[in-house]
Amino acid sequence: MRVAVVGGGIAGLAAGYRLQRSGAAPVIFEKGEGDRTGSQRVGGFIIDKGAYTIPETHSAFLSLIRELGLSDQLRETPGTSSTFVNGEEHRIKIGSPADFLRYKLLSFGNKTDLVRLYLHARTLGAHLNLHRPTPKTLELERETARDFLLRDYSEEILEKIAYPIFADLFLGVPEENSRAAFLATLPNLARFRIYTLACGMGMVTGKLRDRLEVKDHTPVLGVRKTGAASYRVETGGKYAGSWDVDKVVFAVPPPLVPGLVEGLPEPLARTLDEVRYSPSMVVALGQRRPFVEHSFINTFLRSQVPAIATVIQDQHKGEGRIPEGKGLAAAVLTRDASARWMDRPDAGAVEAVLRDMDSVWSGLSSEVTFSRVYRWPFGGVQLPPGTLARQLRMREQLDALDPNWAFAGDGLYRASMEVSVRTGLRAAERVLAGAETPEASAPAASPHPRRW
Ligand SMILES: Cc1cc2nc3c(=O)[nH]c(=O)nc-3n(C[C@H](O)[C@H](O)[C@H](O)COP(=O)(O)OP(=O)(O)OC[C@H]3O[C@@H](n4cnc5c(N)ncnc54)[C@H](O)[C@@H]3O)c2cc1C
Repeated sequence: MRVAVVGGGIAGLAAGYRLQRSGAAPVIFEKGEGDRTGSQRVGGFIIDKGAYTIPETHSAFLSLIRELGLSDQLRETPGTSSTFVNGEEHRIKIGSPADFLRYKLLSFGNKTDLVRLYLHARTLGAHLNLHRPTPKTLELERETARDFLLRDYSEEILEKIAYPIFADLFLGVPEENSRAAFLATLPNLARFRIYTLACGMGMVTGKLRDRLEVKDHTPVLGVRKTGAASYRVETGGKYAGSWDVDKVVFAVPPPLVPGLVEGLPEPLARTLDEVRYSPSMVVALGQRRPFVEHSFINTFLRSQVPAIATVIQDQHKGEGRIPEGKGLAAAVLTRDASARWMDRPDAGAVEAVLRDMDSVWSGLSSEVTFSRVYRWPFGGVQLPPGTLARQLRMREQLDALDPNWAFAGDGLYRASMEVSVRTGLRAAERVLAGAETPEASAPAASPHPRRW
């Protein structure tokens, strides 16, 4: 069975891996080297270009890491998070009630509000499973997180709690995500162990690539049906040509799908196009000396630090990533700054980041020896009001489109490597289930439970 996988991010590679293990012959077409789960080596530094953390809740992704023999590279981070206000650092260990009680970022009233919010989220239970929205979930996603918090809570909770959460976990802002999306993040904050990979996140995709046939620099230009169960994939770039296949897995952001498939039903094309991503940029900064000791994750108020959403201190990611005596930090730009600098030369973004860094850590820019800029036009899936209902419809319509096609990637649900791996594995299972070859009709049991 010949399967074309469109897109070589973690979703497409997970699908390819699962297909190959079941005897199929997947070929993965990748437009650039653009996946958001990559790393780059610069001298002795290992830089994560996009994704950098593996929360303990990423069970399928952690299983994949184990299967690929990378368990010994997992490192538990200190899980510390600081918010800087007027230059003052407020540090907390995520999930530590004692730290929370001592936390000076919030007034007593704000802390009470936060506990109230947390309990509210806990009582909603299964209604906050964004992957299986209930009628109650859909009701909770009728308003933005911002409107909800300003109405029922306070501007402080909006700016000091919700904004950093959306900036870090969604690469977005509370104005563009729903109340349901915000509430769904809260129960996790109390039990959050965060891991990273000492060898860099890109080792996962690197190991998968080693085992698979990946055609890099080969964009898929179109996919069309040529028979009852046969398809032609047209590619450009390095391996330009026509490829006849039996099945297709699409593992690209949904808004790109209508450009690849002619004649999609109009309502489906519109729904795919409506999946919203915020653009995201990362500026990695190598430093002459180790960075002053701060938290793993550092966030800021948007009124004070306009360009940076988060600074990740790489020394907390494990040994061997930074040459002895040097420092490395990664600044994730805010949604607005990413939009502003996405199509402009690197220098502007680096300058804006250094300006913001100096406003928090005086003189830091003079310690920087090199910078690297990574651009993600499809950075993080946003969940504004109405999205969960639309995504539900979209997934049903995609399932009904063609039994030999399957779809994967974070845009089906929300931005996370876990979602991409799960949807990749599930896409592979779908095309295998419809296959007529003996190997494929009896696929090996998946080591990954099908559970969200
Ligand atoms: C800055 C940043 C930080 C993040 N941090 C985390 C984190 O800490 N933890 C976490 O779990 N998640 C994180 N994420 C989200 C996570 O990176 C993504 O959800 C996940 O990597 C998406 O994988 P994917 O395979 O679905 O999509 P992608 O990685 O976007 O892969 C899609 C691929 O398709 C290719 N493509 C597009 N069009 C075509 C075409 N026509 N033909 C061929 N190929 C094509 C693209 O080049 C791309 O490589 C982060 C994201 C960003 C941007």
